[in-house]
Amino acid sequence: MNLFYKNLTIWLIIGLTGILVLNLFKGQPSNTHTMPYTEFAKKVNTGVITHFTVTKNIATWQTSNGKNFRSVLPANPATLAPFMNSGVKIDITPEREANWLLKSIAIWFPVLILLGIWFFFMRKPGGQNGKAMAFGKSKAQLVDRQDSKVRFSDVAGIDEAKEELVEIVDFLKDPTKFTEAGARIPTGVLLHGEPGTGKTLLAKAIAGEAGVPFYSISGSNFVEMYVGIGASRVRDLFAEGKKKAPCIIFIDEIDAVGRHRSSGNTGGNDEREQTLNQLLVEMDGFEINDKIIIVAATNRIDILDQALLRPGRFDRQVVVPVPDILGREQILKVHAEKVNTEDNIDWKTIAKGTPGFSGAELANMINEAALMVARRGGKISNEDLDIAKDKVMMGAERRSMIITEEEKKVTAYHEIGHALVALMLPGADPVHKVSIIPRGKALGITMQLPETEKHSHSYSHLFNNLCTLLGGRLAEEIIFGEITTGSGNDIERVTDLASRMVCEWGMSKEIGPMVFKQPEGFGAAGPIMSESTMLRINDEIRALIDKAHIKARKIIEENMDTMEKLTELLLEKETISRADIAPFITPH
Ligand code: ADP
Ligand code: ZN
Repeated sequence: MNLFYKNLTIWLIIGLTGILVLNLFKGQPSNTHTMPYTEFAKKVNTGVITHFTVTKNIATWQTSNGKNFRSVLPANPATLAPFMNSGVKIDITPEREANWLLKSIAIWFPVLILLGIWFFFMRKPGGQNGKAMAFGKSKAQLVDRQDSKVRFSDVAGIDEAKEELVEIVDFLKDPTKFTEAGARIPTGVLLHGEPGTGKTLLAKAIAGEAGVPFYSISGSNFVEMYVGIGASRVRDLFAEGKKKAPCIIFIDEIDAVGRHRSSGNTGGNDEREQTLNQLLVEMDGFEINDKIIIVAATNRIDILDQALLRPGRFDRQVVVPVPDILGREQILKVHAEKVNTEDNIDWKTIAKGTPGFSGAELANMINEAALMVARRGGKISNEDLDIAKDKVMMGAERRSMIITEEEKKVTAYHEIGHALVALMLPGADPVHKVSIIPRGKALGITMQLPETEKHSHSYSHLFNNLCTLLGGRLAEEIIFGEITTGSGNDIERVTDLASRMVCEWGMSKEIGPMVFKQPEGFGAAGPIMSESTMLRINDEIRALIDKAHIKARKIIEENMDTMEKLTELLLEKETISRADIAPFITPH
């Protein structure tokens, strides 16, 4: 419930209460005239009034012209005796009890509502009454064991992730084997990957394979505006889970609750922290005998609170990658089994033409094709799939990044540019992996892994880094004659690194060992910089970058052949590793 609805509810309640109170005071019809008793008695005795009704000690009657009158009689019933002989007709009605009941409800009703609101807001965080109310319920969806139909065979193209989860399935199937061996099975598994890569599907498959119930809830369901609700929901979820154990509890979008504490400071923070704390408390309270595995999913592992990733919590992290070309082919085939396709479908080519598609988008594509065919009749053909692909690509709500063939090519040269420079520079960190599968905002990535962990870096190491960073942009420039925006981040890093080499680490002979920091307001440390010093520093940074640029260019121009071959390989496989690259490189 957001703030708008909250306000609306409050105003509605105030309005209703007002109307009720007004009604209460409006009990009498307003057109009733009151007549003194003496006059009333006279009119009865003279026969002007022929008929009246007595309720308690009030007489009411209507005149021939339709006017209502009332008169208050003395409380003593004997007062009616004198009228007996006058021929008047007297009705006596009992006091209207029902009316009294209504009135008392009307009086108490607003009070009850106010009490209700008060309870609603005042419930103490973590208080027991949370359980009594529906807000505190977890809202989790339960899929019972008979209904978990998803199997590992339904998940395609992410074999490594699957392999890591097989152990969990074994544990859920036969926990004694593990407990006897004294093994510690993770209570929490964190699936980490872009949207639509099959994280939910994997979690369901674990439950399906192990034949256990599957609870699913989204992290955002925990976060409500009322303090304590989230924590109470977490408690409820785990209590439910324990009743159904062994089972899987799946928390989608865990970043909604698990965001780094004390980052950001707007409202709702307290609530989120409490929810997160409750989650940690519950996970810590787990015993191996509880046989509950928490599977959480996120695409923002970087913003998760470190406490969540500590041992005993989500200490098993499984990357669920965007599928590569082979993975895409497998996913397409899995989904194609559920529809009617012609026999001559060229899955390999289709997989090739769908760079950057996630599993969800591929599934969507098959579904689009099936829809088209359903209207027309017949089987899905290569052309249908092509049209469906364009539809998905143009889809308005594109969550992950889908790239064109041309972009893919530029990215491939760019990444190989980085890799090639790194490979040819003696002493640079070895290239571990090159990939053109988009991840987050990056179109591609070149990963270098140092041979050993380093804590300080030499000038030549840093200079190598500068060259490597510039390699991507250079490759684009040499091959295509122009530069794309894809190098933005590289340039930023180059500038940053070069200025730190000059200003922080004293690596420029011209400037010498002096620290020049950006002034951060009054009283910032560091020498006062004259304009000429600033110019000199700038010149030095520029000279350093120029030097790296020349070196990188030389490497690329001397190895154009290798670059073409590696790029071709990368375009074909989308991800290449050290082993793939090795045969192309002559050792230096
Ligand atoms: P996530 O939870 O990572 O956002 P989902 O698991 O909800 O993604 O994926 C949505 C749908 O996309 C799945 O139901 C499935 O049909 C399809 N899908 C995604 N990844 C795969 C995969 N690796 N293999 C088969 N189908 C997939
Ligand atoms: Zn780059």
